[in-house]
Amino acid sequence: MKYSPCSPVIAYVGLGSNLAEPAVQITSARSALVNVDGVRELAFSSLYHSLPMGPQDQPDYVNAVMCVETDLLPFDFLHCLQKIENEHGRIRKGERWGARTLDLDILMYGDQEIDEPDLIVPHLGISERSFVLYPLFEIAPTLFIPGKGVISDMVEKCPLAGLKRLN
Ligand code: ATP
Ligand code: MG
Ligand code: MG
Repeated sequence: MKYSPCSPVIAYVGLGSNLAEPAVQITSARSALVNVDGVRELAFSSLYHSLPMGPQDQPDYVNAVMCVETDLLPFDFLHCLQKIENEHGRIRKGERWGARTLDLDILMYGDQEIDEPDLIVPHLGISERSFVLYPLFEIAPTLFIPGKGVISDMVEKCPLAGLKRLN
């Protein structure tokens, strides 16, 4: 089957929240993900404070990146993340990059490049978004991002844009 892992795969997840106590949402999402069968935590970045992307009339964000080892296939992994988003009160109003209690994006799934209508991996924003790139660099400083290059080159070119490390 396409995209099936032969053995556990290392995946990176970007977490973000700007509603209902963002830091609590991120910490709770981390626990929820650790409790999923077939997902094991390998690393978790510091929490970061970031400015909103897109609509500016929304609160600032808290972001983090988590590294896991997973036995789940890419779409099963995506659906598992979406279930956790929903359980954390994520409401989709159709506004792009609007305020949310929780956003969980698959940044990388092993060395796979996936280009499907509902799943693009590596995540499209991975190399330009400081709130993704800096926490990812913190836990994976020598990472090679398929189709994009080495993370240190991307960090060098990526302005902080107001990003601050919290802990
Ligand atoms: P962005 O993806 O630009 O960060 P967003 O996270 O706000 O925006 P969502 O509303 O969370 O976007 O998701 C919109 C759709 O993106 C989802 O329905 C999902 O199918 C799709 N998607 C595509 N690639 C990914 C990915 N790598 N991780 C998570 N969702 C993805
Ligand atoms: Mg997102
Ligand atoms: Mg998302």
